[in-house]
Amino acid sequence: MKKGTKAAALVLAMTMAMSFLTACGGDADKEAKTASTEATADTAGTETADEGQTGTVATKTEGVLTFGTNAEFPPFEFVSGSGVIDQYDGIDIAIAKQIAEENGMTAAIENMEFASLLIALENGQIDAAIAGMTVMEDRKESADFTIPYYTATQVMIVKEDSDIAAAADMADKKICVVEGYTGEVCVNEMGYPYEAFKKGTEAVMELVNGKCDVVVIDSATAQKYVNDNEGLKIVEDASAFESEEYAIAVKKGNTELLDMLNSAIEAKLADGTISELGAKYTEEITAE
Ligand code: GLN
Repeated sequence: MKKGTKAAALVLAMTMAMSFLTACGGDADKEAKTASTEATADTAGTETADEGQTGTVATKTEGVLTFGTNAEFPPFEFVSGSGVIDQYDGIDIAIAKQIAEENGMTAAIENMEFASLLIALENGQIDAAIAGMTVMEDRKESADFTIPYYTATQVMIVKEDSDIAAAADMADKKICVVEGYTGEVCVNEMGYPYEAFKKGTEAVMELVNGKCDVVVIDSATAQKYVNDNEGLKIVEDASAFESEEYAIAVKKGNTELLDMLNSAIEAKLADGTISELGAKYTEEITAE
């Protein structure tokens, strides 16, 4: 029952993926929503674009679509014994593999720090970044984003007996975030002091060890950490953390690849593939 409900919630989030954009309220959110409208308008004419065309898109290595990711973000990307591409697994990795293969290419993964992804795109080290990456105005200055494929929100992970019930309750608490993630951006905008860690697991360990009171991180990933660690719970505050959207990033101006990715995402949202992947990987992490 518990599992089914979570999976259903994720499916719902998937189907809502076309609606809003980042993130923490205030002006940044207003700007982002305008951008979302633009993104939708840009792709309005691609409805009939066919999936399965063979690869004509120029890539870093011919016939290979190289995706950059940061495999520290379950259920979207993580390292597993039986990965979908090499040792890499997750919703994003499965999407990457399908898109490449449907377009006559193979998918390759380059795993790197989240903060390096947009630089790697600019350098041509990767063709696209798929990393549960939230579309944000400042990121749009250095990369182009596809249509969104998933809607998320920031949540707070706290100890089960915590008195934190809303974002405002974090004011006098020790807050942990992950460097460069939306959670850091949001807490920063709220004006609270915080400590930033390189990895979600490190931030959560601080919480488990009682060295911090709350971790602000993306919803689906938070669920994984709560499942994996005894004594933690999730606190939501929809008025403080608005919805944000994940999309794939490409090098600025690479419209050929952007169009290909947009057609593929559009088809996968329409035929339920992305919802199914979301449900599958959520079930898996819940069942562990
Ligand atoms: N969605 C968050 C962001 O874009 C975290 C992404 C991630 O860690 N892969 O900042």
